[in-house]
Amino acid sequence: GRTLRLILGDQLNASHSWFTNVQDNCLYLIAELPQETGYVRHHVQKVCAFFAAMEQFARALQQAGHQVLYLTLDETADYPTLPDLLSALIEKHAIHLFEFQRPDEYRLLEQLRDFSAHLSVPVREWDSEHFLVPFEELPSEFKPDTAHRMEAFYRRLRKRSGILMDGKQPIGGQWNYDENNRNTLRDEDIEQIPSPVTFDNDVSAILDRLQRHKVDTFGTPATRLGWPTSRKQARALLEDFCHRLLPRFGQFQDAMTAQSPHGWSLYHSRLSFALNAKILSPRQVIDRAIQAWEADPTRISLPQIEGFVRQILGWREFVRGIYWANMPNYACLNSLGADAPLPRYFWSGDTRMNCMKHCLGQSLDVAYAHHIQRLMVIGNFCLLVGANPDKVDQWYLGVYVDALEWVELPNTRGMSQFGDGGLLASKPYAASGQYINRMSDYCTDCHYRIDRRTGERACPFNSLYWAFLDRHRERFIHNPRMRMIYSGWDKRAASERDAILEQADRYIANIEQL
Ligand code: FAD
Ligand code: SF4
Repeated sequence: GRTLRLILGDQLNASHSWFTNVQDNCLYLIAELPQETGYVRHHVQKVCAFFAAMEQFARALQQAGHQVLYLTLDETADYPTLPDLLSALIEKHAIHLFEFQRPDEYRLLEQLRDFSAHLSVPVREWDSEHFLVPFEELPSEFKPDTAHRMEAFYRRLRKRSGILMDGKQPIGGQWNYDENNRNTLRDEDIEQIPSPVTFDNDVSAILDRLQRHKVDTFGTPATRLGWPTSRKQARALLEDFCHRLLPRFGQFQDAMTAQSPHGWSLYHSRLSFALNAKILSPRQVIDRAIQAWEADPTRISLPQIEGFVRQILGWREFVRGIYWANMPNYACLNSLGADAPLPRYFWSGDTRMNCMKHCLGQSLDVAYAHHIQRLMVIGNFCLLVGANPDKVDQWYLGVYVDALEWVELPNTRGMSQFGDGGLLASKPYAASGQYINRMSDYCTDCHYRIDRRTGERACPFNSLYWAFLDRHRERFIHNPRMRMIYSGWDKRAASERDAILEQADRYIANIEQL
């Protein structure tokens, strides 16, 4: 009998043990699915990137001799759900065994397990063979409803994997070199920001298909897609990162600038799509970066390589653990009771707040923003205005090319909105305009005045920040990391505090006009 093996759009892992041998009785299914275009409204470049990468992967498997059933929306449009399609194919191709790799999204895992339970043919669930921490080990690392901290997890992983270790000690004697990083950009630094490598993938046929099937998307369409869609392109991006960007990666990790055409990419790797689609493995990326550092430690300093490894070995594996320990409940957490809608400029970029205009505009243009733009500008704004975390999640899950729920949800609802009440972070990432002004040059060209908390053209972030702290006083005043901030606030004159809170109220009431 024949075996049907399902490959989802984020399972493009050519090194999976499925592909070590060519099996004549095995049919691989790669399909554009109506349900995947519709579970959230996506950025058009995100859909194009996944569909183009799936096509490339199907072709690569075929060239290696595998039998592949590659279906586009033209063939799958009549199957509203994945089970509908699978049932039809299992019958049509006289399938005797159905196999899938365990999905990383709770939604899909539930759907496939439920489908399998009612299927008349046997089913086998495989591991996706991608992550550094095996799925079975997650429960011993992460407990539900329990606060975990990335740093402790990261150190355990360093010890266990031996990555950047010198026997039992971290290389260089320190676990974390962040204090050496996080510089701001001076004028001469801005001139040196390298132009990013992008690719020239023709996705016009995919765009036509999306239109033909009335797929509702947003963001700027690009007929030539810059994101890597094949192994070859992903490897080229990784090579370029190791050569040109890694030497300054950590140093400018938190910086933002509007003064350079390459300000959107800076020294970030932009490997998240290739990693999350599993075109590259985390081990491969870490090993290659460490190799580059070892080959030239004078050019790439220890703080740079450690900072990069921590993102992938630490943060990426960590948020996945938080996700699986707490799903499905995590998606409903709203510890701050936030319920405001998102203003329209999240879909147009049309706001007078220069920082938001840049970060939103860039997200809509290229389906990408780097971490600090996501966290300290857009996410911070959502937090301060009390935006409903369901709406915030939907926006983030839709807009970014790398957005898959297992990584988006803990970052958005947890880290940036404090919706999980501190399971992931020890305090909310709330900041006034002063932080944005320190880390960027956005404020220089802004309609608003960064040095004002109240009055005409006062920077909205300034008053909104204090109003946020005031609103959640009971919750945060006992947090040792925030007590100082409250005592500073309490020392101000009552009239000044009132004026700041009134200013914030006015801004919230006129949020669409900001
Ligand atoms: P680099 O700065 O070059 O970092 C290298 C790699 O480290 C990334 O490719 C990524 O795989 C990993 N990494 C770094 N930070 C994190 C993190 N906090 N969590 C998980 N992995 C991390 N990342 C996603 O992959 N998908 C998302 O949907 C996503 N949503 C986010 C939402 C918010 C509100 C925030 C604050 C962060 C989010 N992140 C998400 C994490 C991070 O911002 C992106 O991984 C990063 O910006 C991707 O760009 P890069 O590849 O250039 O990253
Ligand atoms: Fe953003 Fe305020 Fe600076 Fe304007 S002044 S760019 S709104 S932080």
